[in-house]
Amino acid sequence: MSSIVNKIIKRVRKAYHSLLLSPIEVWVFHAVTPTFNPAFCLPEDWNSTLDFERTVKKLKKKYTIISLEEAYQKLRKDLFRFKRYAVLTCDDGFKSTLAILPFLASEGVPITLFINPKYLDGVSFRGNYTAHPEYINESDLKGIDSPLVTIGMHGFEHIDCSEQSAAEFRDSATACIKTLETHPRFVPFFAYPWGKYSAATQQVLMELNITPVLCDGASNYRYHNGISRKCIEASRTDLAPGGLV
Ligand SMILES: [Zn+2]
Repeated sequence: MSSIVNKIIKRVRKAYHSLLLSPIEVWVFHAVTPTFNPAFCLPEDWNSTLDFERTVKKLKKKYTIISLEEAYQKLRKDLFRFKRYAVLTCDDGFKSTLAILPFLASEGVPITLFINPKYLDGVSFRGNYTAHPEYINESDLKGIDSPLVTIGMHGFEHIDCSEQSAAEFRDSATACIKTLETHPRFVPFFAYPWGKYSAATQQVLMELNITPVLCDGASNYRYHNGISRKCIEASRTDLAPGGLV
């Protein structure tokens, strides 16, 4: 009996979503540079500048691109949604990201940058690459004042949050907040590195009043335990699709 009820609920929900509640797609990208350099980024994290610009123009034709906060409010409040919305986000805070901001400004497209405050000193780095990639530093961060750009958290450093204890994660998230909250474009959203999290990290973010941002490849209808994201690299045409970072 309960399986019949579940089937009916699923069908009603599907009909509701397809007819009355359009999903909001949230896209994540990482490194965008004119050419690929294996010393500084992984192939699955990369879009060529040309391909990125084409992708944004293509998305603009299909969706109204809104900010992450606007999407969050819609996901919490909308009972009905007929327009198609999308959000752009960028993880890791590579310095090269700064070069795409003028293009996004000319297109009137908002974006949220998720950064690791540890790398703002211009010295620290994480060892995924054969050479040190350049990260956005403190002075770069101060220079970001566009109303179209917001700054979120990607962990104090780029590590697997699901491996951290609640106390370790709390310390790291608190350090992120402390470093970034005075920035005029700071927003209280936390994108887990590699999309990895645990029940403990979710609890800590809830207590700190921070919204989790996931990387689970799902579309968003209503807000539940975080905002889902899809990899924009999957749509690129200049390399085979890669994985999540
Ligand atoms: Zn990352």
